[in-house]
Amino acid sequence: MSTTNPTITVETARHVLSHFGRGGYPAGDWTESLITLIDRADMTNRAKLVTAFPEVGAAVLLAKYDEEGIATLQRIADAPKPQCPEALYDPGTGNLRRCTQNGPHDDHQAADGAQWRIDVDTTTEVPW
Ligand SMILES: [Zn+2]
Repeated sequence: MSTTNPTITVETARHVLSHFGRGGYPAGDWTESLITLIDRADMTNRAKLVTAFPEVGAAVLLAKYDEEGIATLQRIADAPKPQCPEALYDPGTGNLRRCTQNGPHDDHQAADGAQWRIDVDTTTEVPW
């Protein structure tokens, strides 16, 4: 593998693993469509897509063509990371959405795209 390959994020590794039925979790509609498109493209169009979307492209190519690709993506997906401890509880459904973002951030976001913000003055959770 060339050192010029883009870094594949934990999220992308999980999305591509999910696309190939090897774990992870599904991407949002647009990203899943992009992964499917790169997966199905002929060589010419795949090269164009990988140029335009290097990170997702690299992950799909790994999964499809590299003997160690799935294992590599699984290592990326399982990498320990400092995870935000915040979660959004929905009393209506009883669901607890965990924030999936890393590093400092003001707006928390769950895997399903739900976003919320916690007011610094209170512990009240305010869904958008
Ligand atoms: Zn957060």
